[in-house]
Amino acid sequence: MTRTFLFLMLLVALTGCLGASDGGSRSGMAGKLVKQYGGEKTRPDKVAERRIVLLHPKSGERLNLTYYTQGQYDPDAMKKIDVLFRDRNANEIGKIDPELIDYLVDIRSRLGLPPSVVFEILSGYRSQASNDKLRLINGQAAKESFHIHGWAVDFRIKKVNGKAISEIAKTMQRGGVSYYPSSNHVHVDLGNIRTWATK
Ligand SMILES: [Zn+2]
Repeated sequence: MTRTFLFLMLLVALTGCLGASDGGSRSGMAGKLVKQYGGEKTRPDKVAERRIVLLHPKSGERLNLTYYTQGQYDPDAMKKIDVLFRDRNANEIGKIDPELIDYLVDIRSRLGLPPSVVFEILSGYRSQASNDKLRLINGQAAKESFHIHGWAVDFRIKKVNGKAISEIAKTMQRGGVSYYPSSNHVHVDLGNIRTWATK
């Protein structure tokens, strides 16, 4: 009786070990770091769901959603993101590249912040007319044409230093990154890997 019990215990322990090693190899396959020239570049985990919390501070519009699930971008969630990222001056909705949202999510991971962290979106999509207008008022907008294509976003995270966010974003080598000290916001885009000085 006792021997049978011990045998069963041993079997349970062994099964537990096998289970653990299987889990380990699976998470290994879903590893996020890919070696690149000049540094490591993050790639989104293809399996895991991607969630984000977005806020347009001026209007208070807020989204808390899963935009990527079961290996696919959710078109309805992306439509909601397009609306939040709209050009509010021209009242025009553009198409936001899902990889831009992935960029934000991966910046969040690199910073070790939880999925519940709120991204304050200051500017997303811009119509050509709005961008031209901004360029006239403020020279800083000249390099921001990626907003026209839905490939750029200006954002900040409360209580997190924008400079630190921009430094992390630069190491990821996904596109353009710039820090705006006057408003503590960061611009990231999916264009060429570059940075520029701003006020
Ligand atoms: Zn920008």
